[in-house]
Amino acid sequence: MNWASMRVGRRAVVIGAVHSHARTRAHAPALIGRAGVVVAVLRGGSVALLQLDDAPHDLPGGTRRWPFHWGDLALDKPDEVTADPVPAYVAGFEKTAVGIVQHAVRPGEGVALCSSSAGPSPVCGWSLAFSANISRACPKCVALASGS
Ligand SMILES: [Zn+2]
Repeated sequence: MNWASMRVGRRAVVIGAVHSHARTRAHAPALIGRAGVVVAVLRGGSVALLQLDDAPHDLPGGTRRWPFHWGDLALDKPDEVTADPVPAYVAGFEKTAVGIVQHAVRPGEGVALCSSSAGPSPVCGWSLAFSANISRACPKCVALASGS
């Protein structure tokens, strides 16, 4: 099994389309920020066929499956493959003097666990799961999210 075929079944968020096929790229504004599942790898592993979560009538041409270059996808971490696909907390972002801080936000609420104001990712909206493992994660939110 090569590295590409091991990614079949992984969840991914579309973060761009610049590396992908022209047909995919043409619909980039409608596709970026959407999430789905990698259902196949194409072209010797260089391209992922992503099946989006959205209903066909919300998608360009009613098409749920789109080929993306790996560079245009943000994959969930491997240890989350078998986890519940609905995240307990989504990532909210706050600009501070030291950079962007990631807060944990309950889906649909828009206020971080630590009560800081946090906005959605400009690229992915509220579709990114909160990750306690990145260096910019808010320590208060990490503690509150893991303690609940
Ligand atoms: Zn926080």
